[in-house]
Amino acid sequence: NGLKKYFPINGGILGWKKGEVKAVDDVSFYVKKGETLGIVGESGCGKSTTGRLLMRLIEASEGNVLFEDKEITSMSKSQLRKVRRDMQMVFQDPYASLNPRHKVEKILEEPLIVHGIGSKEERRKRVREMLEVVGLSSYHAKRYPHQFSGGQRQRIGIAKALMTKPKLIIADEPVSALDVSIQAQVLNLLKDIQKEFQLTYIFIAHDLGVVRHISDRVGVMYLGRLIELADSEELYEHPKHPYTKALLSAVPIPDPDIKREMIMIQGELPSPANPPSGCAFHTRCVECMDVCKTTRPIEQKLPSGHYVACHLYNQ
Ligand code: SF4
Ligand code: MG
Repeated sequence: NGLKKYFPINGGILGWKKGEVKAVDDVSFYVKKGETLGIVGESGCGKSTTGRLLMRLIEASEGNVLFEDKEITSMSKSQLRKVRRDMQMVFQDPYASLNPRHKVEKILEEPLIVHGIGSKEERRKRVREMLEVVGLSSYHAKRYPHQFSGGQRQRIGIAKALMTKPKLIIADEPVSALDVSIQAQVLNLLKDIQKEFQLTYIFIAHDLGVVRHISDRVGVMYLGRLIELADSEELYEHPKHPYTKALLSAVPIPDPDIKREMIMIQGELPSPANPPSGCAFHTRCVECMDVCKTTRPIEQKLPSGHYVACHLYNQ
């Protein structure tokens, strides 16, 4: 609800003025139990920061986060630790989150030790089970992260996230670092696991193509703001926001009979330290009007169910 994350900057670097970067600037949304919400945007749009705010890995400047009606943002450390069992994260670079000096079984066991779950024997049993769930075997438990391929390492990252039997998984670009042929395997694995364990997903990606088949609803971010959110099919078939339209026009369509006009996005992505006035997208928007330069568009719900922040849809 109204999430904001402002990072202070000291100036000097990259010619930025002293001030703050509005990495996440008033973002609100909900996720329904059992669904997958995709969050998409270019790098620097605040999608990863949003994910970390939800987990409270970083503190929000303003706004709050509720998980099953419990307010995470105001919890004490020990309360927070309890809910963290239910919320886990899968990262883009599994290698960075897997201790290279530890064998896989020790890596996977760690979340259980942190949360004081199970005896050693029970923990090891769960390690073996989770390795099988992600398509590896107990044979892999005695190996080190460097002995695996990128795809296998992401499977280990997923197994680690599953160890505490979470309800929600926030996956931050989990397939972006993988070869295209491996991406589909890992996406399918995530889908299967979701069904098997009735998980809720927030799936962060920089590419609308990747989240299409995994998401029930998709939100699009631009410079710290959520500019459109809709049911997956609605968003892909009938995008409303000019930025979403432009992003989608760059996604290849498998059906050669469907032609989509390529919409170019003008200019460079503005610096998040110095975002444009009014609508943050106005410097690049092909439909920009005078009002867009001065007034920030307010998010509204259209009859089609889209949430969109754009003056074109002001009633
Ligand atoms: Fe374009 Fe104006 Fe809509 Fe922003 S508010 S996306 S500038 S039409
Ligand atoms: Mg990121």
